[in-house]
Amino acid sequence: MGKSKRKAKKSPIIILIYLIILGIGCFLTINNYLQIKKYQKDTITQKEKYNKIKNDYHNVLKTNQEFSTELNKLEHIDQTIENTKKEVFDLAKKVETTIQEGNGKVKIAYLTFDDGPYYLTNDVLNTLNEKQVKATFFTIGLGKDSCIDNRKEDCTTIYKKITDNNHTIANHTYSHAIFAGLYSSVDNFIADVQKQETLIYNKTNIKTNIMRFPGGSSTAKNLKEPIITKLREKGYGWVDWTAQDGDGGGLKTKEQAWNTFTKSIDKDIEVVLFHDYNHITYSILPDVIKYLEDNNYILLPLFYDSVMVNK
Ligand SMILES: [Zn+2]
Repeated sequence: MGKSKRKAKKSPIIILIYLIILGIGCFLTINNYLQIKKYQKDTITQKEKYNKIKNDYHNVLKTNQEFSTELNKLEHIDQTIENTKKEVFDLAKKVETTIQEGNGKVKIAYLTFDDGPYYLTNDVLNTLNEKQVKATFFTIGLGKDSCIDNRKEDCTTIYKKITDNNHTIANHTYSHAIFAGLYSSVDNFIADVQKQETLIYNKTNIKTNIMRFPGGSSTAKNLKEPIITKLREKGYGWVDWTAQDGDGGGLKTKEQAWNTFTKSIDKDIEVVLFHDYNHITYSILPDVIKYLEDNNYILLPLFYDSVMVNK
């Protein structure tokens, strides 16, 4: 008697969960550019929804084996999100091809943030979430478990926030020691990349396959080609940039940043270089996003197959 009562109580929960799974499944139909935009918003809510359902579900069921199959289905939602991202990236690749053929009605901008996680990264992430924009974070390992310049900030949380919000996490070497041996040999450089790869994996469970040379690829000089060969063997693509606000050095005012940024935007596909340690960049970020969107750019996180990722 008590058992059947319990079952009757649980049925609506199962139906509800099925409905939610069905709802998430419906989201996967992605046919046009506008849906890329929608993805930028929905993947965040999808992930939050999943985590909430999972927690609620665990609380309700605890040891009940009867529902293990259903739980298993929920566990697959993570995979569903990955599949959704793949579909979006496949579509973005098609958009890139259309743009390159000169037939594009839209343009693409990839916002990238280097040298973090920094104490400002959390604020940058909040702005991106607010504006429903996905970006790419080229991380370094100097902060280890704490954000650079702020030892109180737990950077594990920041790493997780980057990936949980479906931004792309990428490798910018562990040491970033441009003037202290990073480029002394191919092996030294690759070991540094490997070290950061391990750190990212330990923090996020994600194996990144996109890398940016500290200082840009030209900094590697005659080691550039042998390094690229090794990176290719390790499954990495690498990216420089096509636009920036100049926050890597000497930036003094918002006006200066804004002028440098707007002057550098003149191509149909842009990779924009920023640093998430820079207060000026952080202060103009909402305007940067608005400017790009007003000029028909869709803002996407970098993906391995992008034409902007050199292989
Ligand atoms: Zn850098």
